[in-house]
Amino acid sequence: MMIVFLGPPGAGKGTQAEAISKGKNIPHISSGNLLREAVEDGTETGIKARHYIEKGLLVPDQIVVDIIEDRILKNDCKAGFVLDGFPRTLSQAKVLDEMLRNLGNTLDIVFYFSVSKESVVQRLSGRLICGACGANYHKIYVPSSKDGLCDKCGGKLNQRADDKPETILERLRVYHEQTEGLIDYYEKSGILREISSDDRRVEMITKKISDTIDNTLQKKSLIGRGVN
Ligand code: AMP
Repeated sequence: MMIVFLGPPGAGKGTQAEAISKGKNIPHISSGNLLREAVEDGTETGIKARHYIEKGLLVPDQIVVDIIEDRILKNDCKAGFVLDGFPRTLSQAKVLDEMLRNLGNTLDIVFYFSVSKESVVQRLSGRLICGACGANYHKIYVPSSKDGLCDKCGGKLNQRADDKPETILERLRVYHEQTEGLIDYYEKSGILREISSDDRRVEMITKKISDTIDNTLQKKSLIGRGVN
């Protein structure tokens, strides 16, 4: 099952991708996480990407495409994956189509997370991430039980450098300008499914996504067996 999660920053893609990855046993590939790891490790890619990330701008296509291609070619992606945060430009979307075509595959579903601008700003400005295991929290909506520490691993919770108010607005502007057009691109190919994520009940949204995946899988297997 090849799945893409599309939507503005702060729409809940990362949280849902984690849940779906566990539930369906397919890897969660987050371009943002891969880039942040490269920055932390001080690799050549990380050095090139760093200032774009800090300013809330998109990292140039070629850098992100290379990172994603390396990841998708790994063995654990053969049965599928959830791509979170990639593609973010039309050119990335076309490269992804091409990459999958070369592997004899196509995308199955693109989930578009629609959410109001107010929710996004509220969510991102309160977001806390565990520095050790990457788990997501929110100061008000999803607090950890021990202040400043991760419930899962005890790691220290930090605010992301690009979750500052000015950078949040810049990331939303960039989303609007460079990524939003992908909704139309995937709508035309008939694989777009909209998920309204203003609702904060995480489990309900996970169930909706999971059911849509199951239905699509079922249809795919019927078509594969020649039943229409
Ligand atoms: P995210 O964790 O998805 O919010 O991504 C954090 C930052 O990483 C973004 O603001 C961009 O600077 C960069 N980034 C992540 N994914 C991409 C992508 N597909 N194309 C370009 N830049 C990206």
